[in-house]
Amino acid sequence: MFDLLIQGGTLPDGTQQDIAITGDRITEIAPKIEGSAFEVVDATGDLVSPPFVDPHFHLDATLSYGQPRVNASGTLLEGIDLWGELREQATVEDMVDRALTYCDWAASMGLLAIRTHVDTTPDHLRGVTAMLEVREAVKDYIDLQLVAFPQDGLYRAANGRENLLRALDMGVDVVGGIPHFERTMSDGAASVRDLCEIAADRGLPVDVHCDETDDPQSRHVETLAAETIRLGLQGRVAGSHLTSMHSMDNYYVSKLLPLMAEAELAAIPNPLINIVLQGRHDSFPKRRGLTRVKEMQAMGIKVGWGQDCVLDPWYSLGTADMLDVAFMGLHVAQMTHPEEMARCFTMVTQTNAEIIGLQDYGLRVGAQASLVVLDANDPVDALRQRAARRVVVAKGKVIARSPRAETQLTLAGRPGGLRRRAPKL
Ligand SMILES: [Zn+2]
Repeated sequence: MFDLLIQGGTLPDGTQQDIAITGDRITEIAPKIEGSAFEVVDATGDLVSPPFVDPHFHLDATLSYGQPRVNASGTLLEGIDLWGELREQATVEDMVDRALTYCDWAASMGLLAIRTHVDTTPDHLRGVTAMLEVREAVKDYIDLQLVAFPQDGLYRAANGRENLLRALDMGVDVVGGIPHFERTMSDGAASVRDLCEIAADRGLPVDVHCDETDDPQSRHVETLAAETIRLGLQGRVAGSHLTSMHSMDNYYVSKLLPLMAEAELAAIPNPLINIVLQGRHDSFPKRRGLTRVKEMQAMGIKVGWGQDCVLDPWYSLGTADMLDVAFMGLHVAQMTHPEEMARCFTMVTQTNAEIIGLQDYGLRVGAQASLVVLDANDPVDALRQRAARRVVVAKGKVIARSPRAETQLTLAGRPGGLRRRAPKL
């Protein structure tokens, strides 16, 4: 007797399989599983995917749009100023409430693992206290990883380094940074070296906001890769954003990409935010602000799509839907070949899981029983529709159900209803 049986779904690889779940584990996957279950989900004709994973988010700031006022210039720097005011006003309770509401949204969208940066700048560290509480509160349905993020600079802010270390001592999981926001390029490079040494000493991963600027001279990713190699941190380090790479000289990039590959650096572009924040000082032609995604992938560098922000001082939209993120990334990076579109889906599932180091992830026997049933034929159809999540299963339990996207039509001579599935290729 199984606890849960998902019948007849199509997996991302195109095969049709039943999936049996016992406790919080996948116990069998086969085209036809005999045996009964306490609960059966009919997924015939639907896509069954491992859950969505977001490798880059700001849960301490989410759902705060308009507080204390909206970002009029639309720039990164005005967003940082606004957040600087908001974090002094917000209580731990405010931040926990907003974060838990966002986690409800995420659960409803099948987004079941999130790496969130947490601002460690203020001495009160209320954001850290709040996010540690949230990590514990959601652990039965969302795997939350916290990154110690010195938003105002490791060296530029008073007590920036000391407060980052305090946050790590409190139980934050990953070392973060923001070298392009330090006072000088040399301070930025020094901060990257310092952060990598802190991570090496403590046995932690690194995920740095890196070169989130249009300035092609912002080359901290080079230092990040070199320090990763020097300290033997290969496979544990990610560079988030990397937007300056879109404006760098091609000859320089031809040297940089192999260095990043040698360091096994992961890259996390955040297309919704990058397309909005970058290029604000340009007239025309206006740069897109997204890093070199396909070029990195061609070098074997792991690239995932991150969401970054939902309804906060930097971004005025967002729904916790990683398909929105991949959809925007697909457009801005021009990943329109069928293989590239399918890869965009893999980036917000499997690749992101690898980047943040999830051990029990995937649709395989013995893995954690977390999955999503989507109202779609296949991954590309799911992306195209930003398909409804019919059923979300987290650690063996159904935690969310949504209706299909169906419309009743009352047009003379036309069908009475429709779904927007793509014709199969
Ligand atoms: Zn960020």
